[in-house]
Amino acid sequence: MKIIMLGAPGAGKGTQAKQIAAKYDIPHISTGDIFRANIKNNTELGQKAKTYMDQGLLVPDELTCDLVVDRIQQDDCKTGFVLDGFPRTIPQAEALENALAKLGQSMDYAIDVDVPDENIVNRMSGRRACLKCGATYHIVSIPPKKEGVCDNCGSELVIRDDDKPETVQKRLNVYHEQTQPLIDFYSNKGILKSVDGTQPMDRVFADIVNILGA
Ligand code: ADP
Ligand code: AMP
Repeated sequence: MKIIMLGAPGAGKGTQAKQIAAKYDIPHISTGDIFRANIKNNTELGQKAKTYMDQGLLVPDELTCDLVVDRIQQDDCKTGFVLDGFPRTIPQAEALENALAKLGQSMDYAIDVDVPDENIVNRMSGRRACLKCGATYHIVSIPPKKEGVCDNCGSELVIRDDDKPETVQKRLNVYHEQTQPLIDFYSNKGILKSVDGTQPMDRVFADIVNILGA
C-alpha cells in the first residue's frame, strides 16, 4: 500500500502517518524528519536545508526529490510506504510519479487531512517535538505523560524552530501557493481521499482506516 499524506503544516499528517505505518506495517517516510536528523548531525544537506526551513520556505526540489526516490527503492518499501510531507510541489509529485513508473508502480492513495487555517496556528504553537525519536505531542490535545519529556524515549521535548509564530504564517502561505495544488493533481488521478482533520486524533485515524481497509 503506497500512501501520500497531504495537508497544511500542522494538520496532523505525521500523527496519522505514524499510526498508519504501525497498523499496516509499512515504513513512515517524513522528509521533515530526514532534514531535522541531518540538521542535528550537522551534515551538508542539513546545513543547506536549515537555511530554508528556518525561514518557513520549502527546501529546493533538487535537494528533496532524489532523497525520496532513493528511499522508496530500499527493501523495506517493497510492500508499500506512507509519505509524510512529500510531495509538496507539483514537480516533486511528477518526480515521484516518474520514479514509480520506471518500477511499473504508482501511488494508491493521497489522503488530505483537512484543517482550516484558523486551527493550524493553535496546532503549531502547541506542538512539542522529540528530536531524538520523532514523537510529536500537543500541550493541550495530546500531552506527554510528564510535561516536557518524551513518553517513548525520555528525551527533552522542544518547540521546533519553524513553529515560532512569525514563521507559521509564512509556512501557511507557502502551503497554499505551492502544495495545495496537489489536491487537484491527485483528484485528477482518481486517488484523492479527504478526511476531516479537526476531529480528535482517534476519529481521524478511524476515518483513514475506513478508506484503507481494516
Ligand atoms: P503535521 O505532520 O501535519 O505538520 P503533526 O502531526 O505534527 O502535523 O500535528 C501538529 C500538532 O497538532 C501536533 O502538536 C499534534 O500533536 C497535534 N495534533 C495532531 N492531530 C491532532 C488532532 N486530531 N487533534 C488535535 N491535535 C492534533
Ligand atoms: P515538516 O516536518 O513536514 O513540517 O517539514 C518541515 C520543513 O522541512 C518544511 O517547512 C520545509 O522547509 C522542509 N520540507 C519538508 N519536506 C519538504 C519537501 N517535500 N519539500 C520541500 N521542503 C520540505
